[in-house]
Amino acid sequence: MTIQDPEHYVTGVLNRDNLALARTITLIESTLPAHQELARTVVDRLLPRTGRSIRIGITGIPGSGKSTFIERFGTMLTGLGHRVAVLAIDPSSSRSGGSILGDKTRMEKLAVDPNAFIRPSPSRGTLGGVGRRTRETMLVCEAAGYDVVIIETVGVGQSETTVASMVDFFLVLMIAGAGDELQGIKRGVLEVADAIVINKADGDNLARVEMARKDYQAALNMLMPSSPNWSPPVLTCSSVEGTGIDTIWKTILDHHDKLTACGEIAEKRKTQDLEWMAFLLDDGLRQWFYTSPHVQEALPRLRKNVEEKKISPTAAADSLLAFLHDRNGE
Ligand code: GDP
Repeated sequence: MTIQDPEHYVTGVLNRDNLALARTITLIESTLPAHQELARTVVDRLLPRTGRSIRIGITGIPGSGKSTFIERFGTMLTGLGHRVAVLAIDPSSSRSGGSILGDKTRMEKLAVDPNAFIRPSPSRGTLGGVGRRTRETMLVCEAAGYDVVIIETVGVGQSETTVASMVDFFLVLMIAGAGDELQGIKRGVLEVADAIVINKADGDNLARVEMARKDYQAALNMLMPSSPNWSPPVLTCSSVEGTGIDTIWKTILDHHDKLTACGEIAEKRKTQDLEWMAFLLDDGLRQWFYTSPHVQEALPRLRKNVEEKKISPTAAADSLLAFLHDRNGE
C-alpha cells in the first residue's frame, strides 16, 4: 500500500530518513499515473530545499574503473565530512536485462557508509524518462542533505549527454591505450568534459598514462572551451592505490568556486532547467500528436500515398499538421 499523503514523504526526506528517501525515489520511478502525480507534488514541495550540492557527472567505458574510482572518491569525501549520493544510470540494463552498473558487489565500502547513498537508476524507457527520473532523484537527494551528488553512466550511447545536461561538473574517466574509438570518445563528449581523468596510473602503466595525458591535453587544447572561466585539465589517478584522487576533488572545488563567483553555475543550472522544460514540451507534444486517433488513422494512409507519389511529402505533412490547427480552433 502506498501512503498517499505527500507530507509523509516531504517530512521524511527533510529529516534525512533514508527509508523515506528510497520510497520517494520509488514513487519517482513508478509508471503509475497516481504515483507520478504524488511524486510531482513531493518534488515541488521539496524544490526550495534543493540545489545546494555539487553535482558531478562521471562517464567511462566498462572497465575504465568507474566503480573503483567512485568507491575511493566517495569514501574520501565522506571522510572529509560530506554526504555523498551516487546515482547510476545503466543504459545496458534495458536491452540485455543484465546490468553493468548497480549490482550490489560494486562499491562495497560506500554501500555501507552511513554518509553515502547509492541508487541505481533504472534506464527503462526513453531518454526523456531516464532524464526525468534521474533529475528528480538528484533533487530529492539534495533535499535529504546530500551535498555531493554523483551521477554515473556507462560511456556508451547517448546517456552521457543526458548526464552532462544535468550536472555542474562532467568528468570523463579514461584508460591509456584503449583507443579513442573504443572509449566512445566522440568530439561531443570531449566538448562537454570539464576534466578528463586517466585512471590506472600505477605500476607498469605509468609511462603509457603520461603519454595519453599529453595526447588528450593536446586534443582538448584544440577545442574551444565551453566556458570562458574554465580550461578543462587532463588529470591522472590510480583508484586502486588512491593517488591523484585528492587533486581531482581540489579541481572540482576550484571549478565550483570560480564558476560560482562569476555566476556561471547559477546561469548554467537555469539554462539546464529551461532546456529541460523545452525538451519535455517537445516530447509531450510529439506523444500527444502521434497517439491521437486521427493521426494514427491518417498517418499510414498518407505515408502510402507519398510512397506511391499520389501526394507530395509537404502536402502530406501539412494535412496532418492541419489537425493541430483544427484542435487549436476548437
Ligand atoms: P567500471 O566497469 O568502469 O566500473 O570498472 P571497475 O571499477 O569495475 O574496474 C575494472 C577493473 O579495473 C577492475 O578489475 C579493477 O580492479 C581495475 N581497476 C580499476 N581502477 C584501477 C586502477 O586505478 N589501477 C589498476 N591497476 N586497476 C584498476
